[in-house]
Amino acid sequence: MTQKAVNPVFMPGDAPEDCTLCPRLTAFRAENRKKYPAFYNGPVPSFGDADPELLIVGLAPGMKGANQTARPFTGDYAGDLLYATLAKFGYTSGTYQTMGNDGLTLKDVLITNAVRCVPPQNKTIAEEENNCRPFLINQINNSGRLKIILALGLVAHKSVLTTFGLKKSAFKFAHNALHPLGNVIGDKDITLIDSYHCSRYNTNTRRLTVDMFEDVFRKIQNFLK
Ligand code: URA
Repeated sequence: MTQKAVNPVFMPGDAPEDCTLCPRLTAFRAENRKKYPAFYNGPVPSFGDADPELLIVGLAPGMKGANQTARPFTGDYAGDLLYATLAKFGYTSGTYQTMGNDGLTLKDVLITNAVRCVPPQNKTIAEEENNCRPFLINQINNSGRLKIILALGLVAHKSVLTTFGLKKSAFKFAHNALHPLGNVIGDKDITLIDSYHCSRYNTNTRRLTVDMFEDVFRKIQNFLK
């Protein structure tokens, strides 16, 4: 059997390694296990502070990124930008490396994905977003200090709103917009902030620049002061 490069580190409430909730993603995983036997090829656990103030929600693992390394955003372009930005704003300890075997830790921040398994063509479908939402709910329920959620892209934005039973028409996706969601967890106020996804496509087309991404983190830091 091929030696895997990494071992996933699971948190309470994460999707199990053998999750089969999504038939399309389970079948795709089986194909990828044959094609890339050294990759992780499973539901990627969340990574970071187990009791965060800031939860970052991405879309889904990249094929040769998180699907390979078992750590969200690790090993692809989106992760280069995300982890560099987290380092710049003082949320990291250690130096990010693309294979994830770097001992990096995050303070006050947890990173997860709306869908935890790599989807074909990088595109999730609504059924998969729904199947995977219970794991996002677990994460939120386990985060007693949580104050703000950063949604990277529209799928994450919508998944967070659905998690709290909120209407999408009441909270339109807008880059760098703060959406106070009200008392959505018991009597605790949670705020959502949006960013365009930090994908290579969005930065190549300049929909998202490094400055625009850093502006989002400046806003988050001011909010958390
Ligand atoms: N890697 C992830 O883990 N999530 C994304 O949304 C993109 C890349």
